[in-house]
Amino acid sequence: MTLPHPISGRLFGSPVPPASGWPDDPASPGTPIARTHAEVLTLAADCDLTELDARVSVCRACPRLVAWREDVASDKRASFAGEPYWGRPVPGWGDPDPWLVVLGLAPAAHGGNRTGRVFTGDRSGEWLFAALHRAGLAELPTSAHSGDGQRLTGARILAAVRCAPPANKPTPAERDACAPWLAAELALLPRARVVLCLGGFAWDVAMRQLATAGLPVPRPRPVFGHGAVATLGELTLLGSYHPSQQNTFTGKLTAEMLDEVFVAARELGGPHVR
Ligand code: SF4
Repeated sequence: MTLPHPISGRLFGSPVPPASGWPDDPASPGTPIARTHAEVLTLAADCDLTELDARVSVCRACPRLVAWREDVASDKRASFAGEPYWGRPVPGWGDPDPWLVVLGLAPAAHGGNRTGRVFTGDRSGEWLFAALHRAGLAELPTSAHSGDGQRLTGARILAAVRCAPPANKPTPAERDACAPWLAAELALLPRARVVLCLGGFAWDVAMRQLATAGLPVPRPRPVFGHGAVATLGELTLLGSYHPSQQNTFTGKLTAEMLDEVFVAARELGGPHVR
């Protein structure tokens, strides 16, 4: 069954076939597909950012996550029953040459896994994009669908794990399988100075990746906290509570707190700091 994309009106199946015209789909008909963890390692090497996005977007290396993301895409939430679901890995998105990297955990089942854009189409994304807009990094205060005209300047958003996991909990093996995509992407962003980690999972993954990449990690290893800062050579990790509904509903994270994090990020590594 095909359904119309909410903005373009074009018809798509769920999951969306690669290179079928979905807004911002980076894949081409010839994009190579990683089907094993070893193939992720191979395909993450030796490509530019555009090709990396394409390769991420067709990856099938984690059987449990492939099955989950595609089942969710096929079944859909009732409130989105009239929409096609992306149902594929969600690549990094935003400025290709950013000073700020925003790192989340994984796409949401009915957010990024539906829209094909990270933090787009769910409540967490509403908070994040509104804050990015207030900070002067996002063109629009909302991010509801791919193809909506949203644009980031100076910032790029990545997920530590690129497929939506059941209960938002990837296994350690899935986290490690996806790590080469993240490592390759960070290496392709040479002017990034700050990695804003949304939640402890992102903090730990970033720390692990950057240590593996040879950056000097302080000892003892800095622990995650809201406002935590860790300096690793030219790169600074900055911690923030994740804008999950659990945190925003309870007031653990407020809009003011998120705004302060972006102010801190700019002071640590914004363009004027270079
Ligand atoms: S989680 Fe990462 S490595 Fe696993 S299938 Fe998705 S994109 Fe591939």
